[in-house]
Amino acid sequence: MNGFTLPDGRLAVGGVDLPLLAARVGSTPFFAYDRAQVTGRVAAVRAVLPSSVHLSYAVKANPMPALVQHLGGLVDGFDVASAAEMRHALDTPMPADRISFAGPGKATAELTQAVAAGVTVELESAAEVRRAQEVSSALGIAARVAVRVNPDFAVRGSGMRLGGGPRQFGIDSEQVPSVLAQLGDLDFQGFHVFAGSQNLDAQSLCEAQRQTVELVLELADSAPSPVRYVNLGGGFGIPYAARDKPLDLAPIADNLAALADVLGPRLPRARVVVELGRYLVGEAGVYVTRVVDRKVSRGKTFLVVDGGMHHQLAASGNLGQVIRRNYPIAVAGPVGRPVEKVTVVGCLCTPLDLLGDDVELPAADVGDLVVVFQAGAYGLTASPTGFLSHPAPVEVLVG
Ligand SMILES: *Cc1c(COP(=O)(O)O)cnc(C)c1O
Repeated sequence: MNGFTLPDGRLAVGGVDLPLLAARVGSTPFFAYDRAQVTGRVAAVRAVLPSSVHLSYAVKANPMPALVQHLGGLVDGFDVASAAEMRHALDTPMPADRISFAGPGKATAELTQAVAAGVTVELESAAEVRRAQEVSSALGIAARVAVRVNPDFAVRGSGMRLGGGPRQFGIDSEQVPSVLAQLGDLDFQGFHVFAGSQNLDAQSLCEAQRQTVELVLELADSAPSPVRYVNLGGGFGIPYAARDKPLDLAPIADNLAALADVLGPRLPRARVVVELGRYLVGEAGVYVTRVVDRKVSRGKTFLVVDGGMHHQLAASGNLGQVIRRNYPIAVAGPVGRPVEKVTVVGCLCTPLDLLGDDVELPAADVGDLVVVFQAGAYGLTASPTGFLSHPAPVEVLVG
């Protein structure tokens, strides 16, 4: 079912049996990320990417410093979305010129730190172009910049659309030529198009990549200098609900190889990048929490755990899902216990704090560990940790 289930049915992270890991961590709840699974996932992506295409990690998926360090030795670049993420990225051996800083509303202080460090600033608006110029003049350093383009197409099948139509992300493609004409002394690198996230449909991802390359080639005619960077985005999804099918990488690999052959001769100096977040880390992490109460209310059995949506908001269904579906969930402990239908809730005073609704789990009681899978991306840092003022959970990178 996943990389955490041993052949005998027990659960382990990095080869460490879960109850033992919980004892070593010393407290629940906690997040555990499996180093070997991350390594394996990057290797699997590399195996199908054309060798000329670079792989970048979107740090916001999981900015845990130890994990970012580990990934620093595996990928070709980082994409960051805040000054703090940029510091984590710069703390690794990754060269600054392989780090890009995207996102709307960058503060002047963030722009200043990025320009000073030599990080590539992804320009998201005409006003940001002017602010990058002001920062450059103040520092006496020509900012390395790329234009984040809001494409004129949307991607079918994306769980979250970030391009096409009116968007707060990027500069509308039809406005890009005039913005390129105003870059002045900025050190233009290239283009970044990121159209959508959490896509499990290989064909629609391929179509988005084809349209992206077409758009970039068109915009390149207006570039003030040779294009040295083309970020095709990513959007590779992972299965969360039982009905989700894992993404088939094979057609994407063929498509990227064909596109790299098109881009190579037309933009010979361009470093072509695919940028992934959840696909690299999402399945490599678990959220582990302990049952503190078990109660039956009018025929429905509840397991109340010591964690909840304040740590793992996405599993509760409150991070952008339209229809709530259970994340895969399990109980750690002796194999072979009878299965029962239970509802797993967190310890917050809100009915929104739901981790598993009417799920079939081995009979569990107070003290048992409940494990929520697919917790390696958009977990802790995408959750309202301050809500109800419970202590922050520990995060460990295992293996
Ligand atoms: C968030 C983000 C990503 C990562 O998205 P995933 O769905 O985690 O792969 C990539 N690029 C940009 C610009 C982003 O904002």
